[in-house]
Amino acid sequence: MDNFNPADNIQDLQYFGEFGGVNPSISDSSTYTFLSAKTMFDTFEGNMEGCYLYSRHSSPSNLYLDKALAAMEGTETANVSASGMGAITPTLLQLCGAGDHIVSSRTIYGGTYAFLKNFAPRMGIKTTFVDITKLDLVEAAITPDTKVLYCETVSNPLLEVADIAGLSKIAKKHNLTLVVDNTFSPLSVTPIKLGADIVIHSLTKYINGSSDTVGGVTCASQEFINSLKDVNSGASMLLGPTMDSMRSASVMKNMRTLHLRIKQHSYNAAYLAERFEKDGLKTVYPGLASHPSHKIYASMINPEYGFGGMMTLDVGSLAKANELMELMQAKNLGYLAVSLGFYKTLFSAPGTSTSSEIPLEEQAEMGLTDGLIRFSIGLDNDIERTYQMMKACMQELSIL
Ligand SMILES: *Cc1c(COP(=O)(O)O)cnc(C)c1O
Repeated sequence: MDNFNPADNIQDLQYFGEFGGVNPSISDSSTYTFLSAKTMFDTFEGNMEGCYLYSRHSSPSNLYLDKALAAMEGTETANVSASGMGAITPTLLQLCGAGDHIVSSRTIYGGTYAFLKNFAPRMGIKTTFVDITKLDLVEAAITPDTKVLYCETVSNPLLEVADIAGLSKIAKKHNLTLVVDNTFSPLSVTPIKLGADIVIHSLTKYINGSSDTVGGVTCASQEFINSLKDVNSGASMLLGPTMDSMRSASVMKNMRTLHLRIKQHSYNAAYLAERFEKDGLKTVYPGLASHPSHKIYASMINPEYGFGGMMTLDVGSLAKANELMELMQAKNLGYLAVSLGFYKTLFSAPGTSTSSEIPLEEQAEMGLTDGLIRFSIGLDNDIERTYQMMKACMQELSIL
């Protein structure tokens, strides 16, 4: 995969609509006719490549988006779903059953954390949460029952970086499946290249990029995706988190500009992070030399896409964080909202929002402080102007 460029791979795919349209036609059917009864039977048995059965299983529009995402991540295929959680939970339930064990990063998306901590035990699946940046601790947490090693490339909200190549060595040694949530770093990082087995995205964020829908995807081998979609035993097929065709067609169109957006998000975030750090604010951005994982991340990324659009600033206290966010929203610098990857800057205090599933004492232990603001930096045209306006807000509140 030496010359692998995820955006070129997406661009090299060619699809036409059924009347020669430059976009593929949107499939508008939940069910499909068969010319013969025998073909229908074979399709149910999973033996008819290219035949559609029922849209919870697959639909032409979803398969187009699957292909584009598989091309981006360098996997054989993919399976889109109605949300990121709709990709994560079936994937883990397909890999693990009662008695199995997962070793997971402790700094993961709040919903994934809540699923592993509160819900998966009801199915007899146990999870040990570890500091994913310490490979010796990761290995020490593995038991004879461990099946999966789970992490996010860049973690939410602390922007810790998982050494995917190092984790992959451990996974291979212990015969585990390495599952990586790459939501924060599409195009920038290609986890498969570094040895991951399965890559997941919440399409809701950068990949769709317009904050108008939720969506998700599991990118993996044909064998694993077939198992997820198996009519008798597939977690995606049976739990039913299917993406609608209309939505997959619109996500696909937004994906056409992903490379341009990621470059601009990265440029803008790096610009602000460098300046706020110089101004003396506690700034976390993987592109800063001060970031504990800067070197490893620099070695992992496809450099033209940069270090991503996420950054955090610690402004000292929750009260200050809230005041600053309200003022920035009033000045139209962005929105006080969760989520990420929008054209507009989004900010939130993770301790009281997206990571509130994590108990307070655990938040403190992992360095998730009260005054932390998570920023998804937008596509602002003139980022110097944005910097000056943000700085003025901070000066007004005596943060700077
Ligand atoms: C948002 C998010 C998810 C969940 O995705 P939904 O589309 O909201 O279900 C999972 N992982 C990460 C890293 C996320 O940011």
